[in-house]
Amino acid sequence: MDLIGIYLKEALEDSGCPVCNLLRKYERNEIGTILYEHVNNPSVREQFKESLGLCPYHAWKLKEIAYSDPLLGSLGVAVIYEHMLSIYIENLKQDQRVEVGKCFLCERMEEKERSIISSLSKRFGEFIEVYRNSEAIFCKKHYEMLTAELKKENPSLLEELREIQIMKLSEIRRGVERFIDKFDYRAQKAPTKKRQKLFFLQLRV
Ligand SMILES: [Zn+2]
Ligand SMILES: [Zn+2]
Repeated sequence: MDLIGIYLKEALEDSGCPVCNLLRKYERNEIGTILYEHVNNPSVREQFKESLGLCPYHAWKLKEIAYSDPLLGSLGVAVIYEHMLSIYIENLKQDQRVEVGKCFLCERMEEKERSIISSLSKRFGEFIEVYRNSEAIFCKKHYEMLTAELKKENPSLLEELREIQIMKLSEIRRGVERFIDKFDYRAQKAPTKKRQKLFFLQLRV
């Protein structure tokens, strides 16, 4: 099996949404690479400049990842944001409105998401049994993206995927029902507030 095949198969064998999991790893790697290698890279600096930093979600993610790894540290974040602040302050001094482009990490993530969905739909025939038998389950968004792509690439798999999805969701629902039942059972067994009060009164007497 080639590298992309291994990469997809491993994601489909894991639990949770395979696309969300791959995107989370990609996001972490991208941010790690920026902090580790590219803080002073002019083209990366330029991308930060275009969006005057990152969207709030990615700005906090950048901080979280920087602080979680001693090799990365907070210096990279400080260097990037000192640069952004200098641009912003300069613009304000000149009373210019700052035009802010889209966060480049959001753009990269969207691009990666499209590429994962496209590879998955092209090769889903190879992996449909892996998906059926694993704890993986596509989230609503990625199920819909994948089925839209399968309609073009591999329409014969659509019905089977829908059935697997229903089976997996029903299994989760049964688990949730069992969880609720357990609570009901405990609630029936547990004394009511009134009974508790009576019990404590009796103790005092
Ligand atoms: Zn997902
Ligand atoms: Zn973003």
